[in-house]
Parts: sequence; C-alpha cells; structure tokens
Amino acid sequence: MASDEMKAMAQGGQRKAAQGMASDEMAAMAQDKLLGFVHSTESFGAVDGPGIRFIVFLKGCHMRCRYCHNVDTWSSEGAELRTADSLLDQAERYRSYWGKRGGITVSGGEPLLQMDFMLELFSQAKRRGIHTVIDTAGQPFSREEPFFSRFVRLMEMTDLVLLDLKEMDSVKHRELTGWGNENIIDLAGFLSELGKPVWIRHVLVPGVTDFDEDLYKLRQFIDTLSNVEKVEVLPYHSMGEPKWEKLGIPYTLSGTEPPTEERVANARRILCG
Ligand code: SF4
Repeated sequence: MASDEMKAMAQGGQRKAAQGMASDEMAAMAQDKLLGFVHSTESFGAVDGPGIRFIVFLKGCHMRCRYCHNVDTWSSEGAELRTADSLLDQAERYRSYWGKRGGITVSGGEPLLQMDFMLELFSQAKRRGIHTVIDTAGQPFSREEPFFSRFVRLMEMTDLVLLDLKEMDSVKHRELTGWGNENIIDLAGFLSELGKPVWIRHVLVPGVTDFDEDLYKLRQFIDTLSNVEKVEVLPYHSMGEPKWEKLGIPYTLSGTEPPTEERVANARRILCG
C-alpha cells in the first residue's frame, strides 16, 4: 500500500479501525492526528542497531522477498493505529535499559512507506533526546518530489540507517524481491554523500544470494561508500515459512537449508574483512 493511501486511511476517519483502540489513539483519530500503521513492538531488541532498543515494526511493504520472515507485515490489514506520542511513551518505559547506546529502531515492513508518520515519530523522538535508527530495504527511495525533500528531512532526525543490500545484480534482485535495485544503490550512494552512518545487511541464501562473484561485487560497491560502520551477513533461516503457509502464499524456498558455517565465514571474509 502506498504511503498516501495509508495516510488517507489513517486520517480519513476509518471508524471501523477504532474498535479495540486505546483511548488516546481514538482521541487522536477524532482530532485528525497522524497515525502510524503498526504491526507490533518489541521492548528489548538487541540486534537491530546499537545497545538495547525498543523496536517498532510498521505495516506495509512493496517488496516480495522470497525469504521474508515478516510476510504478515506486507499488507496494512490488521494494523494497530498508533500516535507517535503513545509509541514513544511506551518506548520510554524501557529507557533505563538503553544506556548510552540504545534507543528506538523502526523496522517493518518498510518504514519509508509511512514517511509522514516517520517524520512525526522521529521529530518527537529527537525532542525527547532518543537515539533513532531506521531499518530499511530502500525500495521507496526516489530523488523525485515529494519523497526526496521529506527523506532528507527524515535523515536529519535519524542517527543510523540499517540498509539491506540484497543483491547487486538488478536482474537477480528482481527475481528475489520483485523489484530492481537501481534506486536502492542510488540510496546507498546518497547516504554516503550525506555522511549518514550506515550498517549494511546482506541475507545469505544458498543457491540464491550466496555466489562468490556477487559477494565480491557487493564488496566492491561497499568500498565506494564512505559511511559504512558495519557490514552484517545474516544467514538465511526458514523460521518465517509457517507465516506464509498461514496466509496461503506459496513459499518458493521450501526445502532450502541455512548456509553452512563455511559459507557464512566465506561471505563474512569477503564482505566484512
Ligand atoms: S523488504 Fe523486508 S519486509 Fe519487505 S518483503 Fe523484503 S524482507 Fe520482507
């Protein structure tokens, strides 16, 4: 779903969605306040950014990655509509665990599809002195307006970007995700121009993304960037498969085993060494 559609739904008064909502969200809806389409939250995230973090998983993604383990975030159906304030109030209950490095991470789904809500959430977070991280696959990125100016503003309020680079070859990228990667590569370059700290993430799938030639191409590209603080190799796992079955979506990686320790070590040597 496009971000504008989400905004229209959130702001257009979908009264049906109000059933089961907390009173502050209902009040926000009545006042036409910006609402985020939220899938879930996690209080003690330890892998999506530095330190201990409060993670917000947003709904909506246009990619269709064959290995997606959050397939239930693709559509906006079943979203919880939340205000920035209520999410941040919830997050701050855990602030004492964050230390100097922790904070909030927004993941998904694809956070950049809810740009207006992200702007609201991160501007409020910055007012509260909270460290902010976005976990994105970059698919919505465009240099066209109105997206681009809003993205630049969002970056001013973002401390770190976790960017998935799924495949350097655009044809293979399309086979894997349903989308080419040209704008994602452009995004990586733009973040480097901005000097925005980035962690690059690459999911290693045997027979799909685990080819030395492609890993070396990815490494060559990463070496052109000046802002990369960390490169992470994430070994494929099939733990998300039951969600696909439950939603009746064919899972095309059935039977694919996780990569061996040797292949993970090989990818880490090529990408992170
Ligand atoms: S970008 Fe992320 S949420 Fe979207 S399909 Fe791919 S893995 Fe799933």
